[in-house]
Amino acid sequence: MPAHPLIAAFYKSDIWRSFREMIILTRGTRCEHCGMLISEASNITLHHKEPLTPDNVHDATISLNPDNVLVVHGHPCHDEIEQRFGHEGQHKVFLVYGAPLSGKTTYVLKYKGRNDLVVDINNIFRSITHSEYKPQCLLTNAIAIQNTLIDNISTRNGKWQNAFIVGGYPDRYKRDLIKQQTGALPVLIDTPRDVCIARIEQTGRNKAEYTRYIEDWFERYVS
Ligand SMILES: [Zn+2]
Ligand SMILES: [Zn+2]
Repeated sequence: MPAHPLIAAFYKSDIWRSFREMIILTRGTRCEHCGMLISEASNITLHHKEPLTPDNVHDATISLNPDNVLVVHGHPCHDEIEQRFGHEGQHKVFLVYGAPLSGKTTYVLKYKGRNDLVVDINNIFRSITHSEYKPQCLLTNAIAIQNTLIDNISTRNGKWQNAFIVGGYPDRYKRDLIKQQTGALPVLIDTPRDVCIARIEQTGRNKAEYTRYIEDWFERYVS
C-alpha cells in the first residue's frame, strides 16, 4: 500500500480510475506476470514498472503511461514482482540469461523501469556498428564497453535504479563470476529448445545460422 499521502490521493483520483479502467478494457484481464486469467475483479492490480514517488506521481509519462504498467494479480503476482524488483532505496542487479530467442529482451522490457541500466552485448554492437551485424573484428571493443558497464554495476557507480545484465551465459563459470562481481540475482529464461527454434521464422533471421546458435547454447549450457 502506498505510504505517501500524495500517492494515496493519486490512486483515489478520477483520472487514475479512468486510466485503470481503460487499460483493463483494452488489455483484458490476463495477468501479464503469470499468464493466467484474473478471475476476481478485486484482485486486478496495475503495477508501475517505474515506481511512483511523490516527485513523479504527477508526471503523466510515468503515472499514466500505458507502457509503464502491467496488469497483474494483486496476490500473489504483484507481491512477487514488488519483492523481486521493488526498490526501497536499494539497487538490485539481475543476470538474465538463456538461449538465443528464449525471450530475454522480452523479460527485461516487461519489468524494467526507465531509470534502470541494461547491459546487453547485442545492443552494444548496434550502437557501435549502426547495424544488425556483429563483426568479430569489433568484438574486443564491444566487450570493453560491456566490461566498463559491469564494472560500474560492481562499484555501484552512477544513479541507475536496478541493473539488468543480459546475455546467453551458458557457462556456469562466467555466471558465477558476474554474480561474485556484481551481486546479481540469476534469472534463467527457461524456454525449451524447440520453442526457441520455432521463433526463428517470426524474427526473419537466417534459419540455419540461428538454429546453430540455439543448438550451441543448449550443448554448452551447464545449470
Ligand atoms: Zn498472475
Ligand atoms: Zn507494483
